[in-house]
Amino acid sequence: MGKRIPFDEYYPIKGEYKRFDARSTAFSVKSKIYGPDTFSYTRKVWNKMQQGVPGFSHPDISFKNAANTSDNQDGMGTGYYSWEPLGVSVKPDHIPRWEKTPDEHAKVVRKAARYFGAALVGFTKLDKRWVYSHSSDGKEIAFEDVERGYLTDEKAVIPESHKYVIALALPMEFNENSYAPTTIEVTSNMGYARMHVTTGTVAEFIRGLGWNAIPCGNDTALSVPIAIQAGLGHMGRNGRLITWEHGPLVRISKIFTDMPLPQSPPAPSGIIEFCEVCEKCAKHCPSQSIPFGPRTYNPKNESNNPGPLKWYCDEQSCFDYWHEVATGCSICFRGCSFTKKKGLSHDIVKWFIRNVPALNPFFAWSDEVLGYGKMNDPTKYWDIPFERS
Ligand code: SF4
Ligand code: SF4
Repeated sequence: MGKRIPFDEYYPIKGEYKRFDARSTAFSVKSKIYGPDTFSYTRKVWNKMQQGVPGFSHPDISFKNAANTSDNQDGMGTGYYSWEPLGVSVKPDHIPRWEKTPDEHAKVVRKAARYFGAALVGFTKLDKRWVYSHSSDGKEIAFEDVERGYLTDEKAVIPESHKYVIALALPMEFNENSYAPTTIEVTSNMGYARMHVTTGTVAEFIRGLGWNAIPCGNDTALSVPIAIQAGLGHMGRNGRLITWEHGPLVRISKIFTDMPLPQSPPAPSGIIEFCEVCEKCAKHCPSQSIPFGPRTYNPKNESNNPGPLKWYCDEQSCFDYWHEVATGCSICFRGCSFTKKKGLSHDIVKWFIRNVPALNPFFAWSDEVLGYGKMNDPTKYWDIPFERS
């Protein structure tokens, strides 16, 4: 197995790190420019349908839109991301809180979260560095000695007692992702929908045991560093979390809680070392948003938070491409060398990537030569029987 390198050693930070302001994300910055079309691309997709563009048929578009039904990307405190108990799983007052060891807490939370839909579950201590300084709608995010988190028009308060974070990875399907960047790539929307339902359901499970829980999607804190600290994977060149089990094909959510939980070990190293020689996503990104070369400390624009050693992608030019293509693109998910169907041969390659990095250039070269990561023919999608991937 690859080494398990402590977070601060693997992702060193240069200078004074400041908590990121969610009003600076590419979504927030660009939504001021694109207005109501920020997420829906409504007119463009229907224009493409009328022009007969493959992957933009009427069923394709409705498929993608319908996958949004339970979506709640940045809905801090809303819907299943409510900071208040939903009143579904309620512990009666005369029943004591279910209080065991951190490992026993982790055992039941992990199993319940897997049942409710998570592909991966990890635990870590809350590192306040990753909590946004302000939410996307301008609320200051603060910490106070209160029992339960609360939201006002001006601020969002996380209790100091919420020292633990559960990171969840929600699955995205290989097959449907392989049609990116058309509207048949429903897995992003479906991933957000699953995040919302699963994360809120796990939070309600924790509340029913007598503890407090704040479920979050993309809101409230940066998901990728939390997921890395919870041992789910590592940050790839494409700026996404890459897991050993599912590559980048996951969406991440998190739950802050006062239920004591253990620290999960870091994921084995090897992903960053592979990305150092691969560069496939940088070559194929249509907006040149993904950098070539080694990791740096140099942000591209205000939508990156400077400090950690990593690959800084230009999230703003990426977002502009989404609008050009009228979908969420996802080419860097589809084409990533870690995006593979389940299979023994791929597991063997991953073993070598973890243990014999000298072979990385060969595997990176062969991934391109063997044609992995190409787009599937969208005109055939509805003729192929559904296969869970
Ligand atoms: S989503 Fe598309 S445009 Fe954005 S970084 Fe990935 S490949 Fe590039
Ligand atoms: S395509 Fe290659 S360089 Fe890019 S994230 Fe995937 S493994 Fe890393």
